[in-house]
Amino acid sequence: MERWGASLYGNPCRDCGFDWSLTPLEALEWVKRLPARYGVLVDGRQGDERHPELAWNVVAYVCHVTDNLRNWAERLAGARLSGHRNVSGYDQDLLAHARSYNDASLAGALWSLKRAADSWVESVSAALEQNLVLEHSTRGIQRADDVARNNAHDAAHHAWDIERILAHHDRPTP
Ligand SMILES: [Zn+2]
Repeated sequence: MERWGASLYGNPCRDCGFDWSLTPLEALEWVKRLPARYGVLVDGRQGDERHPELAWNVVAYVCHVTDNLRNWAERLAGARLSGHRNVSGYDQDLLAHARSYNDASLAGALWSLKRAADSWVESVSAALEQNLVLEHSTRGIQRADDVARNNAHDAAHHAWDIERILAHHDRPTP
C-alpha cells in the first residue's frame, strides 16, 4: 500500500509545516483562499524562476496544483453523480511533460487555478456532505475528508516549493 498524508510527510509536514489535524472545513477554507495566496506569492514574477534541486519552475508548480485540484474534484464528482468510487493514481511528471508546465504563462496558470479552486470547493463540499468514500488502487480507502486535507496539503507544500525557488532566485550574488 502506498503511504500518503501524515504518515508520508510527518505531522506537521517536515518540509512545509502543514498541520494535518485541520478539519475538512478548514481545508475547504484554505483552498478557497488559495488563488489569492498564490497571487500574492508570485506577484511581479515571470514564472520561469528556478531552483537547482527542482525540475519544475514557479509556473509549473502553479499548473500542478491546478491539475491536482481538478483531478480530485472530478473524481469526487464522479463518485457523487454516478457511484463510481474506484480511482487510481496519476503520473504528475507525465502530465507536466504533456502540458509543458515549465513553458506555461503565469497569468494563464493563475486564471486556471482560480477556476479549479472554485470547482474543487463546490465538488468537495458536496462530497463531504455525503461522506463520500473513494477506493484508491494504491492508497486504499480515501474518504472525502482525506481528499480535502491531501489536496490542501499539496497546495501548501508547493507554495513552500515556490518560496524556496524565489528565495534562491533573489539570493544576493557574491
Ligand atoms: Zn508539506
